[in-house]
Amino acid sequence: MFIFKDVEQIRQHIHQVKAAGHRVGFVPTMGALHNGHTSLVKASKKHACYTVCSIYINPTQFNNASDLDNYPVSIESDVKMLIEAGCDALFLPTSEQMYGLELKAEQFSYGTITDVFEGAKRPGHFDGVITIVGKLMDMITPDEVFFGQKDLQQCMVIKRLIKTSYPQVKFNMMPTEREKNGLAMSSRNMRLSPAEAEVALSLYLSLKEVETQLNNGLPVVQAVAEATLRHLQHPLLQLEYLSVVAVETMEEAHLLEDNKQYAVIIACWCAQVRLIDNILLTHS
Ligand code: AMP
Repeated sequence: MFIFKDVEQIRQHIHQVKAAGHRVGFVPTMGALHNGHTSLVKASKKHACYTVCSIYINPTQFNNASDLDNYPVSIESDVKMLIEAGCDALFLPTSEQMYGLELKAEQFSYGTITDVFEGAKRPGHFDGVITIVGKLMDMITPDEVFFGQKDLQQCMVIKRLIKTSYPQVKFNMMPTEREKNGLAMSSRNMRLSPAEAEVALSLYLSLKEVETQLNNGLPVVQAVAEATLRHLQHPLLQLEYLSVVAVETMEEAHLLEDNKQYAVIIACWCAQVRLIDNILLTHS
């Protein structure tokens, strides 16, 4: 696996790769890699792409200074995992390379997609995400990109960015990788003690409970109330939202219409760590 820290060097490398007739697949990450990340690398390889992964902890997407300060870093094991997953090139830029001297995000509004849930709870978060992904897209010039459903709203935001600014690029949303018990893999899980990680499983259980109750015919409001009562009462948990949304717009849904894709989404603190998860609803 090639490792580049310099933008011009990776630009040149990708130019050569494309000249040799390869399609380029891109997997942006913030490191502290787990099997969720490597599943994206493997998906890109499956699509026959020369696969570039980036690791960059983007300060402008953190609305909370202590979250940024505590974000896990494990570059040596990251490199190992990427090699094992078959990644072809790793881009490890510095903030200066990405932003120059002014560490600042541009402002974006894609309507509800950027404004509700994560957009509302984490002001400026999507401005940071769109800014950095745009910069990386310009540097890597991929043919395909791979993002995880784990960050469903981010997927919808990036899908819109690609539709408006990079229409030639294929967007792929890949399923969430989970621990055996169902806990969604996340770099932030590293900050949980084993006991807290067990409590964190409640997020997934509550999503499944909403799905079960909807399938039993309960109205959305009651299904959510039931799941909250059953699974989210532990003193270590502090719920931010548990909602059913229409996936394309991320708008909250109270009545489910036929032929529309819905998801159950959750954001919940477990001790000192803010976790998010979601499942797509299969019925209707
Ligand atoms: P991050 O390093 O958290 O910025 O995530 C980088 C990419 O990995 C994003 O597209 C995430 O949605 C994706 N990702 C994170 N966790 C998972 C997971 N458990 N399963 C699949 N993809 C994931």
